[in-house]
Amino acid sequence: MQPKIEFQDVDFSYQPEVPVLKHVSFQVQPGQTVALVGANGSGKSTIAKLLTGLLTPNHGSILVDQITLTPQNMAELRQRIGLVFQNPDDQIVGATVAENTAFGLENRNVPRPEMQRRVQTALEQVEMWEYRDREPGLLSGGQKQRVALASALAITPEILILDEATSMLDPQAKQELNQIIQRLQQQAGLTIILITHDLEMLALAERVIALDQQQVAFTGTAAELFRQEDLLMRMQLELPFSLQVQRDLAAQQVPLPATDLNEKELI
Ligand code: ADP
Repeated sequence: MQPKIEFQDVDFSYQPEVPVLKHVSFQVQPGQTVALVGANGSGKSTIAKLLTGLLTPNHGSILVDQITLTPQNMAELRQRIGLVFQNPDDQIVGATVAENTAFGLENRNVPRPEMQRRVQTALEQVEMWEYRDREPGLLSGGQKQRVALASALAITPEILILDEATSMLDPQAKQELNQIIQRLQQQAGLTIILITHDLEMLALAERVIALDQQQVAFTGTAAELFRQEDLLMRMQLELPFSLQVQRDLAAQQVPLPATDLNEKELI
């Protein structure tokens, strides 16, 4: 299968002599969910900005569907990428949830009936259709983030990037968003990139790419990453609590309790 996204030996720096990414190469297959992890400042958001053409590599190439990104084809490509950011309040634009969801479609010459159909589908996907006439500013953080996700889905993206999308949410809202992402994964062909600090979220990813010291330090499954204790420590990531408890209990030979994050399932 041809990769959906490919970074080929990408170097990037904001300032001369201060490299942020060095020789970064990776591929993401179509329909795959990949998590991008790394310490604060390791370059995760920079990768998202390079992929959406907000930044240009100093060296190397970025390809989507085998086509190298250039300033000329970037605008077209951006139409196929849905983005959800960390702060739900930054993504509120309309007077109602439905208007907010339609916002990304306004400039795309989508006919009105098609727009309404897409807004309904997107809001149903995030379980917010019944809130369509509500004022977005009055929703909870988790609901706002689901509306932000609906806005990204309404453009019917081929690639969905969630940049720390759960980091400001409470545990229940996180869980609800993770469940919605899980359902989106069933949607044929949607390639998902989860930029996250939240190792619980890694359970959703088929593959994890870890950044350390400006480079790709690891690619593999979440279960494989959880065994790389030095790397986890360098990235300031801790094992998910439930997995830590499982390990501690196993070390004491206490029978394992059932948890929703089972190490066996992650392998
Ligand atoms: P992450 O998303 O992993 O936290 P970022 O991609 O935001 O990391 O940042 C990577 C590095 O680039 C950090 O050292 C950060 O300080 C620096 N950086 C990010 N944005 C800018 C910018 N606009 N100008 C200069 N340096 C930046």
